Amino acid sequence: MEQNFPGGKILRLKVGDITREPADAIVNAANSALAGGGGVDGAIHRAGGPSIMRELDQIRGKSGGCPTGSAVVTAAGLLPARFVFHAVGPVYRGGKHGEPELLASCYRTCLQLAEEQGIATIAFPSISTGIYGYPIREAARIALAEVTRHLNAQAGMLQQVTFVLFSEPDYRVYASCLEREPA
Ligand code: ADP
Repeated sequence: MEQNFPGGKILRLKVGDITREPADAIVNAANSALAGGGGVDGAIHRAGGPSIMRELDQIRGKSGGCPTGSAVVTAAGLLPARFVFHAVGPVYRGGKHGEPELLASCYRTCLQLAEEQGIATIAFPSISTGIYGYPIREAARIALAEVTRHLNAQAGMLQQVTFVLFSEPDYRVYASCLEREPA
């Protein structure tokens, strides 16, 4: 599914494995220790090779990690992408602990990083909706709202944002959110 924005910009939804996505940047759902984990994080480190973790070790050495709601940048090792943006989503604890704002902040930070790097394409997974337990419908609404706002704003180099959903049911949730609240 695709949606068009001013200036020829595009939002795409697809089912797939983000480690195979040839975007300029792919986003990882990391943890604040930048320590590697399961889910998409494990898949990115397996497919990208050890250079990504070596770079994260350096970042961790300098800053201690990455706060929830923010993201750090590394190169992409063996992946078809150029960069990995390691974004730290919130653990879902009922929704009244600032989770919506922290999740929105992940997407905003990554979109901002994309503009700072001057890249044209970025791919996101569904941050926080795996091990971190965020209800996917609420998470999809937040994710799509942030990306839609960014693509409507017109300023910026970013041309294409892709959500790479890992299952058909996840895809259907994102697609129904986008249909219900189109740009
Ligand atoms: P979090 O800890 O932020 O919840 P997870 O990695 O557990 O992160 O899950 C985030 C989402 O990423 C889930 O929807 C999961 O199904 C999905 N996912 C797992 N592996 C991949 C992959 N290779 N490509 C895209 N999405 C993936």
